[in-house]
Amino acid sequence: MSLEVLGGVYILAAILFVFGLKLMSSPATAVRGNLLSSVGMLIAVVITLLSKEIIDYRYIAGAAILGAVVGAVAARRVAMTGMPEMVALFNGSGGIGSLLVGWAALYSDDRSAFTLITVMISILIGGVTFSGSLVAWAKLSETIGSGAITFGGQRLVNVLILLALVVCSVLIVFNPALTFPLVFVVIALSVLLGVMAVIPIGGADMPVVISLLNSYSGLAACAAGFAINNTILIVAGSLVGAAGLILTNIMCKAMNRSLSNVLFSGFAAPGKATKVEGEVKPITADDAYLILEAASSVVMVPGYGMAVAQAQHVVRELGELLEANGADVSYAIHPVAGRMPGHMNVLLAEANVPYDQLIEMDEINPRIENIDVAIVIGANDVVNPAAREDENSPIYGMPIINVDYARTVFVLKRSMASGFSGVDNPLFFGENTRMLFGDAKQSLSSVIAEFKS
Ligand code: NDP
Repeated sequence: MSLEVLGGVYILAAILFVFGLKLMSSPATAVRGNLLSSVGMLIAVVITLLSKEIIDYRYIAGAAILGAVVGAVAARRVAMTGMPEMVALFNGSGGIGSLLVGWAALYSDDRSAFTLITVMISILIGGVTFSGSLVAWAKLSETIGSGAITFGGQRLVNVLILLALVVCSVLIVFNPALTFPLVFVVIALSVLLGVMAVIPIGGADMPVVISLLNSYSGLAACAAGFAINNTILIVAGSLVGAAGLILTNIMCKAMNRSLSNVLFSGFAAPGKATKVEGEVKPITADDAYLILEAASSVVMVPGYGMAVAQAQHVVRELGELLEANGADVSYAIHPVAGRMPGHMNVLLAEANVPYDQLIEMDEINPRIENIDVAIVIGANDVVNPAAREDENSPIYGMPIINVDYARTVFVLKRSMASGFSGVDNPLFFGENTRMLFGDAKQSLSSVIAEFKS
């Protein structure tokens, strides 16, 4: 295949990536965007394998079908609550892929300093991404404890590993004869660094870490692209690297944290939050119905518990009934509600909640005082007033949806248990708060039944 044809196809794939990303900026077009980018990736992979004529096209077809089947089954089977773990595994696969490509590039004839530098970068970042992502997966899935694992001198150990990595890489670049003993040291140390970098980070910060590792997987792919002189790998890697960094920045802002604070301090370390006490006021579904029936404005605030209960469809149904009853209904979305960026948007979109009713935190907070009823559906940390008021709280400074300022708050959850950060929530004892205990889907179904009867 001529270089012109290959270049043309790569440009087409790159255009599909960029258009796909553009379409993903709106929930209405996101599915199409995803599809476009996937087609771009398929074209890029197939044309690369065919153009290099490395192996018989039948193997390529077989591998593509096998990969597609594994991907489709995994995507269909994974529960929405397990999506962050899946993303972590995808990032890890990207990391190990770049590490292997970089390693393989060492066997090529091109031994220029530039190639060797890019090879070392792809191995280093790829190794860190691989093992760091596996640790992130293990923490999120509770395969290992989700808390921060720390020990004395940990940062010094990490700095020493990094220094050793830089020294070995420089030795390889300046004296390629040393490549073969030293490349194994670089691979082992990179993998070790990934583990060491992620274990001290608490589970509550894992979303930010996963987003950052996503960016690393892109940077590793970009470096691998330079190492083997493959344009589309450079383009795709840069897009992933930049997108991951932007998302990391957005998430840090949503949690009011700096990236260095996320990486170097244990969020999940036991905090000394002020003890929360008071009277809990439970409410039944019939009483909740009576209050809702008289409400003229209602805001639904979904959280992780809505995903667990799979309550999004009944949430929409209740919303429609309230609207039919004359109430103004909206859905307030916190940027880190749930367990992955956009988690609530995806669930509500699945239930066909109109996009224009989804309101971001910054938009709802200024007018929440005029809302008759705020219904908190399995959210906890993202509506915890301690984040606003208790300077001793481990989540102090994280912006929240101020549901406690609404005239009445219903909190739908099964118990008084804390949320992901393990911090108690004074909202549950608020003067205007009523606790509707039980599985969110069942509680909402009971309220809906009252509306219908
Ligand atoms: P939380 O984890 O703070 O709280 C979820 C609440 O849902 C729990 O208190 C639980 O209480 C309740 N719940 C669980 N199952 C049900 C059910 N079946 N019916 C009703 N309620 C249920 O969730 P938030 O969304 O408020 O906050 C997200 C947290 O997760 C933040 O700390 C965020 O930093 C973190 N995080 C965010 C990620 C993201 O990217 N969005 C990724 C990973 C973590 P009970 O057991 O009593 O029912």
